[in-house]
Amino acid sequence: MNYEIFISKKPADGREIKEIDGLPVIRPIQVHGGEVSFVGRRTLKPPRADALITDNREVWIGVLTADCIPIFLIGEEAVGIVHAGWRGTLKGVAFNAVSYMSRFTKVKKAIIGVGVCKKCYEVKRDLWELFKERYSSFFERVSEDRFLLDLKGINKLQLSSAGVEEIEDLNLCSMCNNDLYYSYRKEKTEKRTLSAIRLL
Ligand SMILES: [Zn+2]
Repeated sequence: MNYEIFISKKPADGREIKEIDGLPVIRPIQVHGGEVSFVGRRTLKPPRADALITDNREVWIGVLTADCIPIFLIGEEAVGIVHAGWRGTLKGVAFNAVSYMSRFTKVKKAIIGVGVCKKCYEVKRDLWELFKERYSSFFERVSEDRFLLDLKGINKLQLSSAGVEEIEDLNLCSMCNNDLYYSYRKEKTEKRTLSAIRLL
């Protein structure tokens, strides 16, 4: 294994975790977009992006979530981290991150981290309208105006479409496992889970 992952647990607030085992955690300014940014040796300012990629073994790269889906990407010579909420998913952030990374290293594996599961993620018709053209099979209608959305499922499809052959799902839901991880839907607080990865 050429990587290490870190997932914070309550009561720690991921926002407060600035370093892990003496190495800094680089986080982007998350904007619910589809942009990918490379963290090089001289990256000092946090980029505005929802996916980071690095080949620097001296840093962790991480994202904050509370129901959104964090995705870890593992390549031969680089690692990546993705923050995919519904907006980023619609913009293809996971697909974009794998495509970006694939330009210089093969993405061997992706890991779906702690995020809302399809049984817990109830959405209204507006989201169905936005997604239905490409992703209708990931919705389950529960009433006239309400649907359950499998956000992890859509991201797995994006990862495999981008060429990732091995996708592991930790099967941890921020709402089902709310004793351990933060859920914005349940708690409405600013506290977040940090998901971070490092290349070894
Ligand atoms: Zn759940």
